Amino acid sequence: MNLTIGWLYPELMSTYGDRGNIIFLKKRCEWRGINTEILNLNDGFDAMLLKKVDILFMGGAQDVQQKIVAKDLNARKVKSLKEKIQNNTPGLYICGAFQFLGKYYKDANGKAILGLSIFDLYTENPGLDSPRLIGNIVAKTEKHNIVLVGFENHGGRTYLGKTLRPFARVIKGFGNNGKDKTEGAIYKNSIGTYLHGPILPKNPEIADWLIEKAIEKKYRKKIKLETLDDFISQKAREYILEQLINL
Ligand code: GLN
Repeated sequence: MNLTIGWLYPELMSTYGDRGNIIFLKKRCEWRGINTEILNLNDGFDAMLLKKVDILFMGGAQDVQQKIVAKDLNARKVKSLKEKIQNNTPGLYICGAFQFLGKYYKDANGKAILGLSIFDLYTENPGLDSPRLIGNIVAKTEKHNIVLVGFENHGGRTYLGKTLRPFARVIKGFGNNGKDKTEGAIYKNSIGTYLHGPILPKNPEIADWLIEKAIEKKYRKKIKLETLDDFISQKAREYILEQLINL
């Protein structure tokens, strides 16, 4: 088996170690004998390349990079991305990338960056005099009760529409907006989250979920990946949980 991972804007959107998610996904496939190809989809990439992608990934970024990416996301790319997401291509979208999936992101100066309007959400930065939402975060996923650990650093506050399910519920930290205890969002096989970390090495179940969904879609068969030794991931999680929950 083989999978193609489409990495959206790696040169612009990969803050706070988000590239570690790509390394982890690739490794986790290879450890199971699944060959992977990483497609770097940088500024100016041909929308046709999206056709061969089995898993989509897009990391976080500062407002400046988000504006550059917004300019590059022309009508063809937006149409292809929407089709991929609507057709259940699994994807992981971190922070600024998560914000892009919604209607708009209003930056600290009140300037709106239009989003893809795939997720029923919007994001607004309350202004330069408002504190950024920064720190370690613990949250529990809505669907499978997985306890997630990571860290967040965003000025934008994201608000989910009634039709969009949160990815997780905040146990410790801020989450989407520091008020409603939601963290991220999930729509079909696409996950948006504020968790940097990178999220996947600290929460390997999410990586396996993305890989299984990609294989199911590509090979039209249900699959349960073989269990791996996640000792290091577990130790990292235990350490963070100890620090956070016992604070
Ligand atoms: N620029 C966005 C914000 O500050 C996203 C930040 C990020 O991707 N870490 O909310």
